[in-house]
This record gives sequence, C-alpha cells and structure tokens, in this order.
Amino acid sequence: MNSDHHDKQARIEPVRLGLESQFKFRCHKDISCFTRCCRGISIILTPYDILLMKKRLELTSGQFLALYTVPQLLEKTDLPLVLLKLLDDESRSCPFVRDDGCLVYSDRPTTCRYYPVGVASLSHKEGADDEGFYIMIEEPHCKGFEEDKNWTIREWRRDQGVDVHDEINAGWTDLVVRKRSFPMNIQLTEKAKQLFFMASYDIDRFRDFVLESSFLKRYPMDDQTLEAIKTGDVALLAYGMTWLKSVLFKENNQLSAL
Ligand code: SF4
Ligand code: SF4
Repeated sequence: MNSDHHDKQARIEPVRLGLESQFKFRCHKDISCFTRCCRGISIILTPYDILLMKKRLELTSGQFLALYTVPQLLEKTDLPLVLLKLLDDESRSCPFVRDDGCLVYSDRPTTCRYYPVGVASLSHKEGADDEGFYIMIEEPHCKGFEEDKNWTIREWRRDQGVDVHDEINAGWTDLVVRKRSFPMNIQLTEKAKQLFFMASYDIDRFRDFVLESSFLKRYPMDDQTLEAIKTGDVALLAYGMTWLKSVLFKENNQLSAL
C-alpha cells in the first residue's frame, strides 16, 4: 500500500524484476504494522486513479484535484504530475486511512495496489531502459515479508487489479516515457504542459474544453467517438492521450511549439 517514492529509510532493492520474479509477502488486517505504510509517504496519482477516486467521492476532477492533490514536476521529464496530499498531522497520514484500513480500498491508487512492488517506468532515472521491469520496496516497518505466501509479480498484479489500471494508463505512461527520452534542454511550452495536465488529470475540464470550445472544428472526430467521450471518462482519457501525442510530438521526433 505504499509508493515507489517515499520514506528515506526505505531500502529499495536494486534488482530488476520481471513478471515471473517471485517474492514472499502477505498483508492483512491482523498484522502488527497494519496501515503503517499509509503514512509519511509520497504517492503519484495516475489519470485512472483520479477518475476512480473522484467518482467514488462524488466530486468533479477539479474538486478532487483541489482537495486531495498537490502538483509537482516529474524529475527529469519536466511534465506535471499530481501527488496525493497528505494530512498535516504528526505522521503525515493519507487522508483515506482509517484504523480498519483504506476508506477507498476498491478504488485505491495504482501505487497502493502495486506495493511492495515498485514500477520502474515512473521511478527510474533518465536514460535507463525502463520497459517492463519492477523493483521490490522493502521498508523496515513492513512485516508482510515475514508472512508465508509466495507470489510472482504477474500473480500479484492480477490479484491487486493493477493490470486494468496499467492498460487504461498506458497512453499516459507512453507520453511520460516519450518525453523523458528527449534531452532536458528540449522543453514543452507552458501551454503544452497545461494541456497535458488538463487531459491527464482534470478530465471534466478537458471534456468542457473539447465540447464547448472550437476544439471540434480544429480536430474533427467521428460520431461514435464523440458519443463515447461525452459521458465516458475512460474513453475521453484514451482520446486525450492520443490527441496529446499527436499535437505534442511531431513525426520527426521534435517537440511541438504549441
Ligand atoms: S504488511 Fe506492509 S503493506 Fe501491509 S500494512 Fe504492513 S506495512 Fe503496510
Ligand atoms: S489510498 Fe488507501 S491504500 Fe493508499 S495510502 Fe491511502 S489509505 Fe493507504
């Protein structure tokens, strides 16, 4: 239930893991460290995390972002990210943690699902080959590694429902990885970063932008897609990522001057 960017005490195994790599782990309500990992953390929210949580909390994306997130630039990519905003209490708790667990458990973020596995595509350094590998995060307070249950990473991903998240977030992850492949001195304009932020995280505002501006005149779309994005957040997210890719990255591998 934790992040791949957190606790300075965390010992991040420098081992690259694949889908068939094995580990021993079990997390349950009777374990002595229960919910310890939901405090003092830093969790990057993916676009699909925000869709699920704003729906669960019956908020618009703008309301969710204002109440529960803090913006940040992803190191080495210069792309805006959003982090879950922690409470201002002594242990910097996640706003959704309660004594009996996670208040939004079935809609919890991707990073919380993966934990104790970390995903290299968001945590690695520029220049690394980041396609499809994972790392194991072992924090001293986490007793789950002392439990007797074996997993492969493939099994863990399926069990935690993270496959679906990764599939829906694939367009966004591609953009992040693609931007990172550019040298740091090649930057997106402020306008481009704002469009990336809106299409990735503020889906309700992006819908208004698409439907209520001159957008459809500049970027015509077929009736089927139009109907799908009018009400479907996942369809709009997929459309937005494809659109962003086409307007931000030109064919000759240059960044657009949007
Ligand atoms: S076992 Fe690890 S993941 Fe589970 S509650 Fe404890 S610290 Fe969190
Ligand atoms: S969202 Fe849920 S699982 Fe994730 S840190 Fe918060 S309480 Fe823990």
